[in-house]
Amino acid sequence: MATKFQAPRGTFDVLPEQARSRRRLEAAAAEIFARAGYESIATPVFEGTDLFERGVGRSTDIVRKEMFTFEDKGGRSLTLRPEGTASICRAYLEHGMQKLAQPVKLSYLGPFFRHERPQAGRYRQFHQLGAECIGTDSPLADAEVITLLADLLEELGVPGVELRLGSLGSFEARRAYLEELKAHLRAHEGELSGDVRERIDINPLRAFDADDEGTQGVMASAPTIVERLEGEDAEHFAEVRGLLDAAGISYVVDPTLVRGLDYYTRTIFSFVCDQLGAQSEVGGGGRYDGLIEQLGGAPTPAVGFAAGIERILLALGETAAPSVGNKVFISTNYDEEMERAFALVSDLRHKGIPAELDLAGRGQKGQLKHANRIGAKFVLFLHGENAELRDMESGEQRQIDLANIADEMTGGSG
Ligand code: AMP
Repeated sequence: MATKFQAPRGTFDVLPEQARSRRRLEAAAAEIFARAGYESIATPVFEGTDLFERGVGRSTDIVRKEMFTFEDKGGRSLTLRPEGTASICRAYLEHGMQKLAQPVKLSYLGPFFRHERPQAGRYRQFHQLGAECIGTDSPLADAEVITLLADLLEELGVPGVELRLGSLGSFEARRAYLEELKAHLRAHEGELSGDVRERIDINPLRAFDADDEGTQGVMASAPTIVERLEGEDAEHFAEVRGLLDAAGISYVVDPTLVRGLDYYTRTIFSFVCDQLGAQSEVGGGGRYDGLIEQLGGAPTPAVGFAAGIERILLALGETAAPSVGNKVFISTNYDEEMERAFALVSDLRHKGIPAELDLAGRGQKGQLKHANRIGAKFVLFLHGENAELRDMESGEQRQIDLANIADEMTGGSG
């Protein structure tokens, strides 16, 4: 039936069946974060627009084209968060977390918003989970956050994953390289796409990401920053690689890797999955040593990642997880037993046993069918003093003592 109202373009409903696979993913991530000491943090879904302009960068596609920005009744410009790191750094500063023992290790999960052209794996409201390690420039932190995401993808069984690793060097070191890159782009201006040409000065690195043939040809012969790394930057990158090797995490060094946010320095990484089409990245991140200073704090090195929950589910084939276990359905005749059945259902739930009863006035036969539909393992029939328990798998039915029903459910399931 055609309905008048539909979810807005680029958004979707998470229906109960899909919610189950999401919960499995979220539980796996929560477990991995907790084991590594990444405490969870939640920030508002909207922030002052200037936070993202400063934090994400005015030259990025996100800020130039993709933000959901609106004015509130007080005339303030607000924006639905397009990513998580700027907000977390804002919270770090606002709550004086620089006074805590460093690094501060945080994790998050929630909805994010970008006004992009919707396609498979790309939505206007999507969900990310991520981690940030703030307050250390140790390569151990880079390797740690990369490992968290590698572990999650491995544990979930995401097939065909490849980790690509690069380094952008520090801001200072990058300056000389960017001049060299701009000169290369200018020397080939005629072959570049209009978009890249317009941004030679503001964001030349993005030319590595271009999908038109002309620009790609020019970039094939462009100098890369990885080749130009020197001194501490080169050492830092070598240490990160050494740590990943030691942890048995495989990767390929991709000298053309760039990311869509301005704040990255040194390590950047991207996990791609060959099961996904054009939107092949399941997650990525990197080091952002300049961001907190950019937001008005003291210089504070940090590193983190974000992964797209929908992308991971797509890569997994979004198979619906089966509903859990030992549910009991209490059959009632809708007579004086109804109250007893209701009290019993409550009691079982309080004892931690999944229990349901019919809420729709079905007859006995209809109730049995419904018990099957909702995946009940047992059906309990109440007949006066007697109670009979049917195992829905084996069809076996036996008398039980109502006083011991909870034990029957948890212990001897027959
Ligand atoms: P980013 O914040 O751009 O580094 O993206 C991190 C991850 O978020 C990506 O690897 C994707 O998995 C996911 N992601 C980013 N944008 C979208 C989008 N529009 N729809 C769905 N997932 C997205």
